[in-house]
Amino acid sequence: MMEVAHGSSIHRQRTVVLRAVLMLTVVFAGAFGLLNLYRGMTLLASVELAVALFSLAMLLGLPRSRNPERWSLIYLVVFFTMLVTALVTPRLSDTVFVWILVIPLLAHFLQGRALGLVLSLTFLAMAWVVYLVRFPGEPMTLVDYVGFGNIVASSLVLTGLTHAYEYAREQAEKQLRMLAATDSLTGLPNRKRLKEVLEHVAEQSRRLGTGFSLLGMDLDHFKGINDRYGHDVGDQVLCRLSEILRGRLRSIDTPARWGGEEFFVLLPGTDAAGARHIAETIRAELASSPVTVEGEVIAVTISIGIAEFPGDGAAISDLLVCADRRLYAAKEAGRNRVVAEHPELLEGQPIMG
Ligand code: GH3
Ligand code: MG
Ligand code: MG
Repeated sequence: MMEVAHGSSIHRQRTVVLRAVLMLTVVFAGAFGLLNLYRGMTLLASVELAVALFSLAMLLGLPRSRNPERWSLIYLVVFFTMLVTALVTPRLSDTVFVWILVIPLLAHFLQGRALGLVLSLTFLAMAWVVYLVRFPGEPMTLVDYVGFGNIVASSLVLTGLTHAYEYAREQAEKQLRMLAATDSLTGLPNRKRLKEVLEHVAEQSRRLGTGFSLLGMDLDHFKGINDRYGHDVGDQVLCRLSEILRGRLRSIDTPARWGGEEFFVLLPGTDAAGARHIAETIRAELASSPVTVEGEVIAVTISIGIAEFPGDGAAISDLLVCADRRLYAAKEAGRNRVVAEHPELLEGQPIMG
């Protein structure tokens, strides 16, 4: 099945985090800036007040931003510059070093697992060097080593934990996205997912000048199978069809459950003749592999309509309607067959689904 990029939910999450980070920066960088101005540390105070103003401007511009990742990368560099200025300011308390612990959190939450780790380790290593230059005596005593060890170990622990947390969050998000796009009975992509992949493939086909085909399929007399053998057997039949689809199709094809006992298959780079061949194989395989329930053999057949891009329509909705009409024509012609032509002869007929 084709992969389609999904960026909007992670964009939303990162925008929420960035907004919180910017608000906190406005408050704390502003407060420390005023305090340090009062204490006469002009350079540090100027940097802090500039960062507070910069964060305020970013906060106001954020609703219009289409690329929060880039904004947050700029923010991280600005934040780190302010932090280094504070770390090298001689009269400041040693406790200013506790602020380096926010680096792994900010980097991972704003930039994700991979870049978050790289940025964390880079910024932290620079901060450790600043610590070594600033504090320990010459030569270093045991107390100096322990102090430095605390700084390094605590920042590494936070980096490791944040990295693991971000990994788990990414996996959970992937799982949720997969579930939202999958039909729970058959495990096939659902209608929503098919529409996304269709948009993507149609766009690609337009750009590259290639074609694709769409198979619309509907099980024959399925209501009768349900009525006679029960819903569980009906479900088994739906699963049997999905297994056949999975077995017959290439990895770039997308079989999808449209709803009920109706399925669509998207075949990228396949013309109507190729699609007819595949449809015929699917039809024949289902017809020749009946479902057996408690010794009773249940014959199952399917009708299929084919539409081809761009011959049968340049718009996705036209192709879906065209495949559906031909599917209806296959039903009219006696079911258990494939129809791939003559949409004009079918004008005005009711549309299924
Ligand atoms: P035709 O050959 O004209 O397509 O006839 P049909 O009986 O297949 O068509 P109809 O649309 O009348 O019936 C579809 C049936 O599919 C009705 C509904 O009970 C059944 N159905 C829909 N979803 C499910 C499902 O998830 N599981 C089962 N077991 N049955 C379902
Ligand atoms: Mg049916
Ligand atoms: Mg139906």
